[in-house]
Amino acid sequence: MIYLDNNASTIVDPEIAELITLCNSQYYGNPNSAHDFGKKSHPMLTEASDRLYYHLNMDMRDTLLITSCATESISSVHHSVLTDYLKTPSAKNRIISSPIEHPAVLQSLEALEDFGIEIVYLPVRDYSYTAEDFAELFDPDKTLLISLSLANSETGIIHPLKDITALSGDTLVHSDITQAVGKIPVDTEDLGADYYSFSGHKFHAPKGVGGLIIKNKAPFNPLLHGANSYRAGTMNTAGAVAMGAALHKAVKTPSDIPTLKKRLEDFLSEIEGCNIFGYDKDRLPNTVYFNIQGIDSDYIVWYLNKQNIYVSSGSACKSQSSGQNGVRISLSRFTSEAEIDTLINALKELIKNKKAKPTL
Ligand code: PLP
Repeated sequence: MIYLDNNASTIVDPEIAELITLCNSQYYGNPNSAHDFGKKSHPMLTEASDRLYYHLNMDMRDTLLITSCATESISSVHHSVLTDYLKTPSAKNRIISSPIEHPAVLQSLEALEDFGIEIVYLPVRDYSYTAEDFAELFDPDKTLLISLSLANSETGIIHPLKDITALSGDTLVHSDITQAVGKIPVDTEDLGADYYSFSGHKFHAPKGVGGLIIKNKAPFNPLLHGANSYRAGTMNTAGAVAMGAALHKAVKTPSDIPTLKKRLEDFLSEIEGCNIFGYDKDRLPNTVYFNIQGIDSDYIVWYLNKQNIYVSSGSACKSQSSGQNGVRISLSRFTSEAEIDTLINALKELIKNKKAKPTL
């Protein structure tokens, strides 16, 4: 099979799988215990934490919470802001976001509307928005939070987060960096947000572990209460260790991804009626999102699935009147040239036969 849906989830790197087994079989004590056995996991956790701090440019003023996933991290930030609003209701009841956020952001924000929070969305043109759009919409006297992602999961388009934080003044900013971590450099200091959310399984760590970065002692009300102050619940030690190692490997391992992406896009550009969304924009190096006039994108996904080539389809922006559906191909460092060539050949065959049924 050929797996090209790495923006949905990735294979756990085999070396990291070994590390997880080591952690779970030999260093399974609770890291918060008073005894030496529990504390044995500390050096591994410290190394993982050091790596995450280093690669995401955090320092001692910042807090990294190990969560269960990006969804938990995102909801935790929104819940924290809501808690403060409910404690001290004020004229500031607005959150600025965009309609092209992941459902983990959009649905978490929608849930806040029941409590009197108003969600205001940036206008989206050509699958993105600009800092000028933000400046026009932003009223610091009314805004509690800005919640915008760094990169879009479907198109891979990178948004102008730094330009927006430069205009945000004292207003808190949260960024969902789930699709960016491990794919492009993410400097949490330079980007200027107060909170960042991400998930390990997008960069070859396992599912069930994520991160929430709270920058420079930004206010935070915990979602989970219990033994530990900011995020109660026994930490997923093996997951945290895996996430640190996975990010280190993602940053350090030379990758063929840009060359393979170019190979695929060169082929797609030659197809009559093929549109690569955001082709001229700054995009994630691993993501290609396209459609072909006259061929339904869902059909392309179905056809490829029959050839054991796994990609995904979705709407690049449900709010845009075009409502265009596309096919998303997302590569990883485990993707080979032969796999891309097989995909290209399958697409050639599909286009030749148009809607003819594939041979099983
Ligand atoms: N944000 C973005 C941009 C995503 O792509 C995803 C997952 O696809 C999430 C958040 C949610 O991640 P998780 O399901 O790991 O919580």
